[in-house]
Amino acid sequence: MNEKRKFDVLVIGGGPAGLTASIYTSRADLTTAVFDKGDNTLDKAEVIENYFGFVDPISGSEILGRGRKQTKKFGTEIFDLEALSISIDDGYTVETVDGEFKGDGLVLATGVQQKKPDVENLGSFEGKGVSYCVVCDGPLFRDKKCAVLGSKDYGVKEALKLNEYTDYVSLLTDGKEVDADQRLIDRLDENGIEVITDPVTTVFGDQLLEGAIVGDEEMELDGLFIAIGTSGTLDFALKLGIDIEDGFIQTKDDLSTGLPNMYAAGDCTGGERQVSLAVGEGTEAALNLIEDLKGESNQDWG
Ligand SMILES: Cc1cc2nc3c(=O)[nH]c(=O)nc-3n(C[C@H](O)[C@H](O)[C@H](O)COP(=O)(O)OP(=O)(O)OC[C@H]3O[C@@H](n4cnc5c(N)ncnc54)[C@H](O)[C@@H]3O)c2cc1C
Repeated sequence: MNEKRKFDVLVIGGGPAGLTASIYTSRADLTTAVFDKGDNTLDKAEVIENYFGFVDPISGSEILGRGRKQTKKFGTEIFDLEALSISIDDGYTVETVDGEFKGDGLVLATGVQQKKPDVENLGSFEGKGVSYCVVCDGPLFRDKKCAVLGSKDYGVKEALKLNEYTDYVSLLTDGKEVDADQRLIDRLDENGIEVITDPVTTVFGDQLLEGAIVGDEEMELDGLFIAIGTSGTLDFALKLGIDIEDGFIQTKDDLSTGLPNMYAAGDCTGGERQVSLAVGEGTEAALNLIEDLKGESNQDWG
């Protein structure tokens, strides 16, 4: 184990929210460490065509690579390590397998982990017809045959959103009954979205998705959107006592978490999942943290 290393700011998560926060803090001359355990959400986005300033589509991994390079240019140190725990004393201590790191301020930007259903071959078609985000990929499936896999509010909402791009939408509940707000269920009926409750066992295709086996039937599909929710990435932070509901950090309007000099940004705070929103929140969290650490309101740790 190395000695406890000291930084002004510790950022947990090296996606667009965390990297943006680190660009701002290191440019403000605050020594900054970013921790990232890999498997970044954005790496799975093969085509991004809605991020400001990129006329031609750009891949998620290209954006990430550029962000990492950019923040390192300003002095940020990136550690490809998982934050195993955070403790609070006269600052924050983050524990990793490579030792402990201490900081005066902290940004949580851990993103969310999508839950995956147990459907054969699903991984082979991610980015090739299987998607986890209608806002991101819906426009790529205009007038195509699509289905949403999900049975709760989130699944129904994704199906309704997808219906804005194509009339051919079904909701696959994978052996469950629809368990959503009645007003949402009514809107499924009004929009002619068929609900199929049979289990979804396999997806198939050649290069791209071509269909799924639903019950005993083969269903032709160009797009399958998974909407069964998220699983927690915040267990390591739970004992801090920050407010976490349904796996999302509940922040105040200024993105503060209720703990001194600690902010949260990006997908982990809930709401729509978009790079632009993550970047915006990373900016806001960093600006407020810089003000805390440099300004009049500098926290007294007692
Ligand atoms: C297939 C796909 C396509 C998408 N397409 C688009 C699109 O076209 N346009 C768009 O705007 N958005 C798109 N998105 C959404 C976009 O990727 C997210 O909104 C964005 O990446 C969120 O950024 P973030 O920084 O909040 O979280 P993330 O990008 O998820 O980054 C969080 C990082 O924190 C790390 N982490 C978590 N816990 C720890 C820990 N304890 N220690 C260390 N590291 C940790 C994770 O491993 C991850 O690398 C897409 C997403 C997917 C999956």
